[in-house]
Order: sequence, then structure tokens, then C-alpha cells
Amino acid sequence: MSVHVSTHPLVRHKQTQLRDIKTDPAAFRALVRELAQLLFFEAAGDLRVEPASVPTPLTTYSGERVAETVGLLPILRAGLGMAGAVLDLLPTAQVWHLGLYRDHQTLKPVTYYNKLPPTPALDLAVVLDPMLATGGSAAAVIDILQQRAIGRIKFIGLIAAPEGVRAMREGFPEVSLHLGAMDSHLNEVGYIIPGLGDAGDRQFGTE
Ligand code: URA
Repeated sequence: MSVHVSTHPLVRHKQTQLRDIKTDPAAFRALVRELAQLLFFEAAGDLRVEPASVPTPLTTYSGERVAETVGLLPILRAGLGMAGAVLDLLPTAQVWHLGLYRDHQTLKPVTYYNKLPPTPALDLAVVLDPMLATGGSAAAVIDILQQRAIGRIKFIGLIAAPEGVRAMREGFPEVSLHLGAMDSHLNEVGYIIPGLGDAGDRQFGTE
């Protein structure tokens, strides 16, 4: 499995702002968007391109265009802010919504909404979730994708715990992880430490 933890100075700078308890929901959402774009930019470095020519005002430009069909899978609700940001960079991407919540007792993911087409035609699926904690939600989504024969999958997360990365490495070694930071550990109720609290609540001002 490939695990990329960004070392970009802008990512490290924005991580600090994101985690600050004083960062309000509007600023938090903006940072989620910016970090999602920076991480997608790094993750998309191997997208296949094909030749494409366009007329310029002076002549013809022989350039390239992205030749892959990409699907974005924001895990609701915390992944929503990331999907819009990535879509701004790649407007041709499809967006497939998947709703999962973590049962607070078992910490296991429960699917409550699934808008995936039965026979998707995708070259690459990109799963978006700010927090890779136990890895349970990511694993559930990747299971669903693999049942639909989607082979090439990347996961983008803003913050990961080693426990979640280990679970992904064991369960899905073929999925590449693109992370903004690797934190210390999970606490007894499954929050990432030092983390940022609840990524959904912090984006949407709920508690
Ligand atoms: N989900 C969150 O929003 N925060 C965590 O720390 C772990 C999972």
C-alpha cells in the first residue's frame, strides 16, 4: 500500500489553523476546502492525459486533457466540504454520495444513504473523508466500491490516526492513502488525538 503524508509547507500551515479551537465554522470550512484541493492536487499527479489541440487566437496549441473518468465519494457529512473543493479543480468528475455514521457504542459504520449507480464506469474512485480514525467508514465504502468492480481507489483524508492507516493497510493494500497529517493515536471514544474534534460539527456549527 502507498501512504503519502503531505509535507508541503502550505498543508502544514493550514493544518495548524484548522485544528485551533478558536477557528470558527466559516474559517474551518474554508480550510477544509483549501486542504482538500492541495491534497487532491498531490493525489492526482498520476492521472492519465491524452493529446488535445485547441485553436488559440494566433495558431493551434497541441496540449493535453485528463483522459480518466473520476468519481468522488464524499462520506457524509464531513466529506461534503471536500467534494465541492475537488470538483472545482476537476469539474468533469462524478459525485457519488454515501451516508455513513459511526455508531457511538460499537464505533462501527452504519450506511444510511447510498446513491451509487449499480454499474458504474469509472477509471478512478476518490474517497473523501477529513478524518481516518478507526478506518471503519473508509473500509465500508471501499467494500461497496469493490463489490461494483471498481479497482483503482484513492483515499484523501486531512488527518489520520495510525490505527486507521493500519486497518487500511491490512484490509485494502491496493488503495493509496493521501493524508494531510498523521496524528498520535485514538482516544477511548475513537477521536483522533491531537486531532480537531468532530470534523462534521466543526464545519457545520453543530454539537
Ligand atoms: N471523526 C471526527 O470527526 N473526528 C475524529 O477525531 C475522529 C472521527
